[in-house]
Parts: sequence; C-alpha cells; structure tokens
Amino acid sequence: MSRTFSAQFLKLLPSVHELSEASEIKEAEKRNKLPLKYTRKLIRDKVELFRAQIISGVTTAESKEEMFNLVLQAVLPEMEAVRYRLKPVVNATGTVLHTNLGRARLSREAARHVSEAALSYSSLEYDISTGKRGSRMSLLEELLTEVTGTEAAVVVNNNAAAVYFVLTALAKNKEVIVSRGELVEIGGSFRVSSIMEESGARLVETGTTNKTRTADYINALTDETSMAMKVHTSNFAIVGFTESVNSSQLRHELNTHGREDVIVYDDLGSGSLYPFSSENIGDEPVVGKVVENGADLVSFSGDKLLGGPQAGIIAGKKELIDKLKKHQLARVLRLDKLTIAALEATLFEYLYGENPKQALPAVRDITKTQAQVREWTEECTASVSLNQIILTPEPSFSKVGGGTMPLAELPTYGLSVEKEGLRAADIEKFMRSRNKPVVGRILAGRFYMDMRTVEQEDWAAAAEALKELDVL
Ligand SMILES: *Cc1c(COP(=O)(O)O)cnc(C)c1O
Repeated sequence: MSRTFSAQFLKLLPSVHELSEASEIKEAEKRNKLPLKYTRKLIRDKVELFRAQIISGVTTAESKEEMFNLVLQAVLPEMEAVRYRLKPVVNATGTVLHTNLGRARLSREAARHVSEAALSYSSLEYDISTGKRGSRMSLLEELLTEVTGTEAAVVVNNNAAAVYFVLTALAKNKEVIVSRGELVEIGGSFRVSSIMEESGARLVETGTTNKTRTADYINALTDETSMAMKVHTSNFAIVGFTESVNSSQLRHELNTHGREDVIVYDDLGSGSLYPFSSENIGDEPVVGKVVENGADLVSFSGDKLLGGPQAGIIAGKKELIDKLKKHQLARVLRLDKLTIAALEATLFEYLYGENPKQALPAVRDITKTQAQVREWTEECTASVSLNQIILTPEPSFSKVGGGTMPLAELPTYGLSVEKEGLRAADIEKFMRSRNKPVVGRILAGRFYMDMRTVEQEDWAAAAEALKELDVL
C-alpha cells in the first residue's frame, strides 16, 4: 500500500472531540457514570488503533461517515465494560484461596469496617482516653495475643515481609539453621534461601531433603547461631520415608544443650485459627498450639487460612517482638489503616463472632461438605432455562489453594457446560470475557464450574453469561 493511499484514508479519521460529542457516546457516558476524561482516553486509544490499522492497510472506508461509525462502534462496547482494571470475577475454579484471584474474600463485617475507616477520620494513631498520640501498632496487638495465646505481636504487609523482617532484625550477620527439607520456593517468587541472603543472615543447612533429626540441628550449632528456623513447606509435600522435627522438640533439645539463647522461629505460612483438621481437612495445627508447644516466634499470612486481608502477622515472646517494634523496618513495612480495619474485624470474628465459620468466606468455603455444594448446584441448575446449552451436575475435587494444604482434596460438586459446535476452550474464553468474568476450569475435556466458590450474586452473573452463550 502506498504512502499517499493510506494518507487519503487517514484524512477520514474523526477527531477525539467529534466522537466525544456523538449522542451514543454521551448516553453511554451517562449510563456508566464515566468521567469525561476517561471517555476521551478510550476514544483516543481507539482512534490510534484505527490509525495503525489504516497505515498497515487493514482498514479502509469510503467516507467520513463510514469511518466515524467504524470507530464509534469500536468505542461503545469498551464504555460498557467495567472501567477499572481490578475487576470482580466469579471464581468457579473451586480453589478457595486462589492467589491469582485475590486469595481470601473478606467477611461482610470486615468490608464494612474497611469502608468506615476509609470514609472517616479514625483513631489510627490517636489515644482517645488521653487525647494524646497513640500507636497504630498497638491497635491489633490485644486481639492477636488473645487469639494466638502469645505474649506480643506485630503485623506487617505480608508474610514474605514478616520473614525478611524477623531475619534482618534478629539474625543479621548471625547463623540461622534450616533443614534442607524446608528450603522451599513458594509461589514462584518467595524463596527462603534468597530472602535469607537479602536479610544478611547466614544460612546453615542441616539434615537431608527427606529426613532431619534434632541431632542435625544440635550438630549445626556454633557460637554464631542466633536462630533455628522452621519453614512450612506449604505448596509441596514430601511423602514416604520422612522425618522432621517440630518446634517443640527443637526448643526442648536446645534447652537441654544450654542454648536458651537460640530463637526457635516457625514460619507457618498459612497459620490457621480455625481447627480444619478436626473436620478431616488437612493436618494444619492452629497457631496457638504451635506457640504453646514451644516456638518463640511464629509468622503467618493474613489472607490464607485466616481469611482476612493481605498481611504478615508475627507473634511470640514479648522481648523479641519489642526488638522488632523498635527496628527501622517496622516503619518501612507498616500496615495502612484499611488493612488494619479489615484484620481487626476478622480477628474480632474469631474471638467474639457467633459463627466465624459462616461469617468468614474462606473458612466457610473450605469447610463446605460435598452434600451442601451438591444441593446448591442443583438449585442453581433448576433456576436457569437454556435451550442449546447442556448443564450437567457432576462431582469433582476442589483445592484449598494459596500454597496451603497441597494434598487436601475437598470433595465438591459443579456444572459441566456443553454446547454443540463449541469446544471447551471456546466456552472457557467466552465465560472469561464477560463484564464480570467467570473463571472456571477444564475437566475431562469439558468446561466445568466448581460451585463451592460460587455464591448467590456470582451465580446471577454466571447465569447471565450462560444465557448469552446459549443464543450465540
Ligand atoms: C505463603 C507463604 C509465605 C509468603 O506469605 P505472603 O503472605 O504471601 O507474603 C511465606 N512463607 C510460607 C511458608 C508461606 O506458605
């Protein structure tokens, strides 16, 4: 295509201003409550796209009107899409703590408390009883010590930060003993050995991949040892011929060898506050138990099994927590008020809520029985009438997710979705491209929606998408 040829079409392109004045655009703008600046951005992006297409010879038009309509018809659907990039999606994967989909959902009360803290001034660093400056760090401490049974606690941005913080503040330039079976990488970005290196603590490996005994820790002790660290292997499990040492054995053995000075630190990863194992789900100990058994310090995430916001909770001996609080990093890694509000309401639920298992979506979803999910699946199937799509209720297994309880298989129920002429991948793509995307999985060659993680309003959106697909 010659330069002059494309130049002639380029002249037909409407201006951003012309388009933004079009009545269809004005109506869509009003309906979706879009700011003018944002509409202009959408239009500009499309005009640029058409410019590129004209230059590469993909698009031609006979007249100004025709070109105007081409661009207009491309902009309008964009205006109907939710304007934010962070969109609510329907999690029909059944994986409860799906890291890519935001891990734990907050409870209604936690969301309400967040919104209250966002819209109003608050007592973030103000002591109401004295009228003087207060400390944001102390807001959560009482709830945390109560719920974990520890002397003291401090919270930072996430558990990766918590691990880095503990190692930097308490083991810099000193030796930290870790079992070779626990030198794990979690979620492709958190590698214990790398964090250790960054922190300036010196890693001393002990034992083997499958077996580490108390004697291995004792043999690795030197004058430079400041800590024996346990790391939850989270997203992988060694099965078969294995042996490991828990923090209680470790504390006991260190004391026997006169090494009360060596800190026993347990990075629990998930840190559950709900006894899932009593319902035959995994074998995760509750945090309080680990502390009671002898760990001096534990750390865990706020948005895994706990079911709260992203956060890294560090709990344990007061003397150690006090050192952390005084460290410069405490300021670097400090929580914002919205997270504090969300975590406060979540912890409150565990301590004083009537039914934390029902109130906290993550705990609720993990503990749903197959019979409950089946009943819900059948209710949903009966509520929608489709012509060409075939919905088949079917059993399957869900995962806990978030690198938590990798071996736990939660018996579940869901819907296989089929339509003649469409492949599972086509259906998957269609469902994912809705205004409220529906993310499912492919099961035995069919698109499958695990209903464990699909709630009432999610189903409304999913049913809408299915109806659209039905008439396609
Ligand atoms: C998940 C996990 C982390 C990282 O926690 P984030 O809250 O995701 O930063 C660290 N250690 C262990 C053992 C984990 O399972």
